[in-house]
Amino acid sequence: MTDEAGPKEQTLVLIKPDGLSKSLTGNILTRLSETKLEIAAAKCVHVSRALAEEHYKSLRDKPFFEELIEYLQGKFHSRKKVLALVYVGPGAIRKVRELAGATNPEEADAVSIRGQYGRITTKGVYENVIHASSNVQEAEREIKLWFEPDEIIYDLYPAETVEVKAKKRVWVKTQK
Ligand code: UDP
Ligand code: MG
Repeated sequence: MTDEAGPKEQTLVLIKPDGLSKSLTGNILTRLSETKLEIAAAKCVHVSRALAEEHYKSLRDKPFFEELIEYLQGKFHSRKKVLALVYVGPGAIRKVRELAGATNPEEADAVSIRGQYGRITTKGVYENVIHASSNVQEAEREIKLWFEPDEIIYDLYPAETVEVKAKKRVWVKTQK
């Protein structure tokens, strides 16, 4: 039996600032469509330092952590944002990780996304154009970090409605 019969699964994908700055968004989305997974959410995000640090908190003690946080925030690139997506379908985590390729773009399979488009900077940061969740627990943590329930077209995790009193920006009404 193939894993097509397996349970639905979801994974977080980020097209990192180098992917956006190099106009690779279309190419990367086309490669991801090979998986036949479904996009359940997508948005452009200006990444705050707090969001970048929370996303990569397990790497806090690594020597490259500071550069990694600046990289995800777009400090080294013209497009200071990421495109965040949730892909849903059987085997989503494994399928996207395989297509993304190894973390080190020099070691990644040449026809993987990172093998095709990634590079190592002179500072030693792996600019590997894409993030993909590595397991079910990380996928849940990351999806909940980047998206609110109503930004995803499916109820992937239990959600509840709470009363909030908050200010928000709205479009200025113009006379017609
Ligand atoms: N990274 C790096 N140098 C390293 C290892 C990782 O610059 O030696 C960066 C790279 O951009 C990678 C990210 O840190 O995508 C997160 O690392 P992780 O080990 O989680 O790899 P991934 O899950 O992205 O393959
Ligand atoms: Mg990782």
